[in-house]
Amino acid sequence: MNKRLTKEGILFVISGPSGSGKDTVIDSIRALDDSIGTSISATTRPMRKGEAEGVNYYYKTYEEFDALIEAGDVLEWDTFQGNKYGTLKSELDNQLKQGKCIMLAITVPGALKIKELFPKESVLIFNLPPSLDTLKYRIINRGRESEAEAESRFRAAIDNEIPKAVLFDYILVNDDLSETVDSLMAIIKAESSKFSRNKTILNDLHLID
Ligand code: 5GP
Repeated sequence: MNKRLTKEGILFVISGPSGSGKDTVIDSIRALDDSIGTSISATTRPMRKGEAEGVNYYYKTYEEFDALIEAGDVLEWDTFQGNKYGTLKSELDNQLKQGKCIMLAITVPGALKIKELFPKESVLIFNLPPSLDTLKYRIINRGRESEAEAESRFRAAIDNEIPKAVLFDYILVNDDLSETVDSLMAIIKAESSKFSRNKTILNDLHLID
């Protein structure tokens, strides 16, 4: 386990095109540091083979999803390829109060909304593929979506997602997985060691007011 200084929770938000490998990067980092929490989102997307309720997502009907929004239970939500995806308040509240670091993998507009809601706590990381050819290859060859959906995800990456990378705090170029995970760990350590996140430690030592 990787011990960090900070007692304050940090929200590491990873966005990037479908096929950039966000989920693999997050799974790898969590295997190295089990203190990093994740947040399970709600979605109207149908469950895929190999997924499970409350593990990958909370699967909702459109009516149920809208009721969650209406009740104020959704911090941010976005529509992606015709389905709604949203971060649940309940998933973040408890973990942030306990000072946990949480890693979210969400769409670009979702990440920007989180920055608006948590300007101090959030760190936005954009996960880029090494090239557009690699991205296209990864989207098509994972064979998860129909050909039309894969093409639409690729277009969304070029037209809407990658141009927004300039609004993020960090860029990860996900070519070699272990190098990408090293870079992400370096970001986590540096952000956790920032003075602004560690004032309470100096306070506890009575070194500052
Ligand atoms: P997928 O259908 O491949 O699981 O996810 C599609 C996209 O929705 C991915 O970019 C994923 O990161 C994003 N996503 C998953 N959960 C959320 C969420 O709670 N909010 C937002 N804004 N995007 C999400």
